[in-house]
Amino acid sequence: MKHIEKNLKDIIEKINIAKEKAGRNDEVLLVGVTKTFPVAVIEDSISLNILDVGENKAQEFKEKYDIIKNRVNWHFIGHLQKNKVKYVVGKVKLIHSVDSFELAKEISNKAQKLDLIQDILLEVNISGEESKFGLNKEAVVPLLKEISLLPGIKVKGLMTMAPNSRDHEYVRSIFRKLRELRDEIVILDIANISMEYLSMGMSQDYELAILEGANVIRVGSSLYGNR
Ligand SMILES: *Cc1c(COP(=O)(O)O)cnc(C)c1O
Repeated sequence: MKHIEKNLKDIIEKINIAKEKAGRNDEVLLVGVTKTFPVAVIEDSISLNILDVGENKAQEFKEKYDIIKNRVNWHFIGHLQKNKVKYVVGKVKLIHSVDSFELAKEISNKAQKLDLIQDILLEVNISGEESKFGLNKEAVVPLLKEISLLPGIKVKGLMTMAPNSRDHEYVRSIFRKLRELRDEIVILDIANISMEYLSMGMSQDYELAILEGANVIRVGSSLYGNR
């Protein structure tokens, strides 16, 4: 708990410095990524007022959700298989990692059964390297148009993961490209689509992401310790 508290203080300071550098005074939502950590770490997070928590595996999420319930806002950030959708829909504030129409349709169907609307982000693989998940940049707008017709889902923005690189300019250019894509989509003004969230930046690169406009950052190891 003590180490989390100290790390949190450092992170908040760095967030504020990055925001200032970027001339921003809007909110940046810190999602504490608790994957692989025990439920006690989520309890610690709640005590420290970190009320947005991210998990990347459906099974692990389910086990933790059964204990913590809705005392936090859950974020599902990992690759989601269609047969695991039922564990997640209606329980999480945001699914960050939708990257196909089939997955979106499954989510929409499940949400409709539960009589709710599930908020999601589209995951974009900007760099075209490293991750095998995420959409090609060119596929995003056509998919948005399709998804906008699904009744049980609402797209609220975009997510990306930067390649694990020490080259800050390169990493920053990835984040910049996602922001530019977001801006292009805003202009298209597609019905039922909002571009409220730009989810980018993890422990190694959240300051760069904030410089490029991230308003959701997903931070695990630099907050909770090494996994
Ligand atoms: C694990 C994970 C994070 C957090 O990574 P850290 O390097 O521990 O901060 C963020 N986003 C996604 C999608 C992840 O899987």
